[in-house]
Amino acid sequence: LSENKALTWIERDREHMWHHMQPFASSQNPMIVARAERATLYDVEGNAYLDAMSGLWCMNLGYSERALADAAYEQMVTMPYYPLSQSHLKAIEISEKISDWLGGKHHIFLSNSGTEANETALKIARQYHALRGEGTRYKVISRYRAYHGNAGSALAATGQSIRKQNYEPLTPGFLHVPPPYCYRCPFGQKEDSCQLECASYYDQVMTWEGSDTVAAVILEPVITGGGVLVPKPGYLEKVREICDKHGVLMIVDEVICGFYRSGERFGHQNFHVKPDIVTMAKGITSGYLPLAATAVRDEIFNVFKGQGEFTHLRHLNTFGGNPSACAVAAKTLELMEERQIGTRVRALMERMNERLERLRDVPLVGDVRSFGFLAGVELVSNRADKTPLDPTVMGRVLAHCKQRGVIVGRNGDTVPEGNNVLTLSPPFIVTDEELDRIFDAIESALHTVA
Ligand code: PLP
Repeated sequence: LSENKALTWIERDREHMWHHMQPFASSQNPMIVARAERATLYDVEGNAYLDAMSGLWCMNLGYSERALADAAYEQMVTMPYYPLSQSHLKAIEISEKISDWLGGKHHIFLSNSGTEANETALKIARQYHALRGEGTRYKVISRYRAYHGNAGSALAATGQSIRKQNYEPLTPGFLHVPPPYCYRCPFGQKEDSCQLECASYYDQVMTWEGSDTVAAVILEPVITGGGVLVPKPGYLEKVREICDKHGVLMIVDEVICGFYRSGERFGHQNFHVKPDIVTMAKGITSGYLPLAATAVRDEIFNVFKGQGEFTHLRHLNTFGGNPSACAVAAKTLELMEERQIGTRVRALMERMNERLERLRDVPLVGDVRSFGFLAGVELVSNRADKTPLDPTVMGRVLAHCKQRGVIVGRNGDTVPEGNNVLTLSPPFIVTDEELDRIFDAIESALHTVA
């Protein structure tokens, strides 16, 4: 045996792997996944786990979609790479399709990750204003608890302090407003007294800052990773109205909510809003290859058509729009249409919501929230004063689910006062029985650790 073969996988992992977002201690015993089938992961020891998080909110069509692998292979042997300063067939195909799914004409800038899609959007927003003679507009407003990416402006737009500490100062000009967190309303309102103060707050900030200094608002249709915070009806429409009043662009981050996760093609299509720029990644390829897109309405794009110096977007991305990734994305969307995936997702939403309702009576459950086929279950140790469940007990809940063969998510340790939300975002191909198994595991965990 070579020296490497004599070591176990876990030892080899410990020798050289630096795990994402994991404190050292918890990185020492990772689940080492060897293979996957449909919605089930198998670790190196052969244990099976139902993946209720679709990896990192992305494996929407599950792990066994041969057609996606074939699309990648075919493209790789036909034409593996060319930069998008020129063009290629699959990039054109997926750009047409995204524009079609959004409705209305868009131009699409392709990149590799949600972070890059948002970076691109923010650059476009600032340059758009500059090209129209409003170069004073550079500020961006996002929300506390939101996540928009791991670097640069996307991290600056993120509203989770733990992700930023030690890496600051970041790009200047980023402001945050309180999130639409109805269970712990930042404005102290109750269900019946709510006047959407969290939306009106944008108006105040823009006025106080000076509208002519604000370039864009960036927001998800619902805050996903920051705890599944679902706004009251009318919120997104009100934010759109305020953006229009102040001449501010609205960027909607569909990195998680896009591609039927919400039951519609894009999350914002559940509301009556037309964003100026839409960013997307993850589910665009159903997680099979990295791809991201920044879709820009033509009214915005047209401003970049001038002949003068610095009128074009000076933004380059070596691997953005990789042909195989585009081919996989085009195939993903084709399969979703062919299989009328929206109908299946809406059926799953109904079944999930029934099971979520049952959780409301469990003593540890403070709040239950869902949007499309994703959900957050906020756990508390005391329902009366809403004390968040202790992080170690949270850990035990997740461990219990894992022991029962179900991987459930948690909204990270990234928000000091709010890492107590279980998250669910199962693949769209889960069976009814598998969905029940996910909820059986959660119910069992909540009753066992209580
Ligand atoms: N935006 C949202 C809403 C996300 O959830 C994420 C990642 O989880 C990102 C952006 C960043 O995407 P990526 O990790 O692909 O850079």
